[in-house]
Amino acid sequence: MSETSSIIALVTGGAGFIGSHLVDRLLASGARVRVLDDFSTGSRANLAHHADDANLRILEGDILNPEAVRDAVEGCSHVFHLACRNVRLSLTHPTIVHEVNATGTLNLLKESAGAGVARFLYCSSSEVNGTADLVPMPELYHYAPETIYGASKLTGEYYTDVFQRAGWLSTVIARPHNNYGPREHYAGNCGEVIPRFILQALCGEPLTLYGDGAQTRDFTYVTETVDYLVRLALHGQATGAYNVCRGEEVTIKTIADTILALTRSSSEIRRLEGRPSDVLRLFGDPARLRGLLGSSPSISIADGLQRTVDWFRAHVAPTPELMASLTAKSWVGGQSEPWLEQHLARRNAAAKDLS
Ligand code: UDP
Repeated sequence: MSETSSIIALVTGGAGFIGSHLVDRLLASGARVRVLDDFSTGSRANLAHHADDANLRILEGDILNPEAVRDAVEGCSHVFHLACRNVRLSLTHPTIVHEVNATGTLNLLKESAGAGVARFLYCSSSEVNGTADLVPMPELYHYAPETIYGASKLTGEYYTDVFQRAGWLSTVIARPHNNYGPREHYAGNCGEVIPRFILQALCGEPLTLYGDGAQTRDFTYVTETVDYLVRLALHGQATGAYNVCRGEEVTIKTIADTILALTRSSSEIRRLEGRPSDVLRLFGDPARLRGLLGSSPSISIADGLQRTVDWFRAHVAPTPELMASLTAKSWVGGQSEPWLEQHLARRNAAAKDLS
């Protein structure tokens, strides 16, 4: 019998990029899995290969709806809470990001505690740290998130810890750094750097580099990340936060160059203005994870990028419509919240007066 064959797991955000890989991992080891997803950014296509699997149930629902959450957690032994709204959306629409990421997490914690869930894993983000000045970043750091996204994920961490300390629920926090691999988002404000660069390279279009490309991230191949999420959830002694990362920083310019080489593309690299509130340096220390589990993610960036390029070549046809969905500034999409529009208009007017 495998380690997870007796568990009933809820995966919120299970139709998303990381979530769907976690579902693959759990089903492969014999767990029964429920997915709760509102399909705002996740897609049924990400789970289509499990269509005939009786061990998977997909529930469409919003984590801001307590009844949907209550129904989803009922009878579950383990909850993996991944559902959230992304950092780029938080640059223009911080309120919904706060609600889903902070209030939504509180809903999940409350209903899980009420339903007698045995273990709760909160999937946080390296963005809780903000730009690193001490590297590699340990878990206990002087949190200075640059965005409402980072702050809302940190709020979720605090709530998760409170439930543990109060004795209401057995919880653990995974803090993955940037993930990449098959099924990663490329369109609109969900679009992340690696799939955008791969598709741009495969189409011979310019790679849209924001800023000077010296900003760094600690990239982990997604199948490794989900393996560690499961191992953290199953480890009874794991509590508090664990970085899930390789402990190696890579510049975004290096990512662009590597993708150009792997795809043998002659695309140019086009430098655009930097993204507002971009984190400039992120790289974590996986020592706490290694101390607990004896290992940490190790797939090299060259190997992982090769696998990702191969997957995108085989599965994603870069049609003109698809390429049009890779807007040059991935974070801009229509109007921002009214107060932010007003603030930007006032700031622009002041700048014009000065010039
Ligand atoms: N980035 C870029 N070009 C793109 C998309 C992203 O240069 O087309 C940069 C972005 O400014 C950031 C890094 O790549 O510094 C990672 O961005 P992403 O949105 O993938 O993830 P984040 O770490 O910001 O959540």
